[in-house]
Amino acid sequence: MTGANRGIGLEVCRQLARKGLRVVLASRDQNKGLSAQKDLAASGLPVVYRELDVADVASVERLRANFADEYGRLNVLVNNAGVYRDEGVSVFEVEEETVHATLEVNLFGAFRMCRAFVPLVRQSGHGRIVNVTSGLGSLAEMKGATAAYRISKTALNALTCIVADEVRQFGIKVNAACPGWVRTEMGGSSAPRTVEEGADTIVWLATLPDDGPTGGCFRDRKPVPW
Ligand code: NAP
Repeated sequence: MTGANRGIGLEVCRQLARKGLRVVLASRDQNKGLSAQKDLAASGLPVVYRELDVADVASVERLRANFADEYGRLNVLVNNAGVYRDEGVSVFEVEEETVHATLEVNLFGAFRMCRAFVPLVRQSGHGRIVNVTSGLGSLAEMKGATAAYRISKTALNALTCIVADEVRQFGIKVNAACPGWVRTEMGGSSAPRTVEEGADTIVWLATLPDDGPTGGCFRDRKPVPW
């Protein structure tokens, strides 16, 4: 579970741990990650903390190697880590550096996590990968402004389809989940949804049965257009 120290990621960890999964809460900041781990432990949900910056190739590789040694497999990968730095900014005004930095986390983070961890997910025999996307990346609903974030999520959606197709033969299901507009640091206090509601579809896709869907995009457990 990437970007799991707060917001939707932390809530997905909570819900998966409640279902009895052994959860690895990954976060780029050790203090924040350990504090989130402590909160879950205090409510009777033991999870493992691991440091992970998805924008750092070496950090991803360290975690992969650690996982391979310690567990030898991964049942569920949730690519949740995300940044949202150009809300409402015109495509003509956004700094190019902001676009690069956003793609680095929202697209390349998931790209390198999939490439590093799919061999371990294959070992599971029933692997699930969930990429946390946004309606702002939907081509069906595309509008102006917020280009960095929108493009990063559109590209993440394409990555979802591509990976889903390549790993279908191994029984791995890969889907994108849109949490809706959720009250987190990213979503802000005016958002209508709670983290519990935002996490629901992600958890559902992370624990799909073997006859569940793959290569789709879902909100409220229902397919939505790309
Ligand atoms: P959030 O509260 O801002 O949390 C984002 C998480 O991502 C934080 O844990 C953050 O860690 C982590 N992160 C950022 N860069 C990272 C990196 N390089 N490596 C590892 N972790 C990194 O956001 P949220 O609302 O929970 O969003 C979670 C996901 O849902 C995101 O992918 C977002 O795009 C998507 N989403 C959210 C909404 C919404 O309304 N909230 C709507 C649609 C989609 P730090 O604490 O260290 O910064």
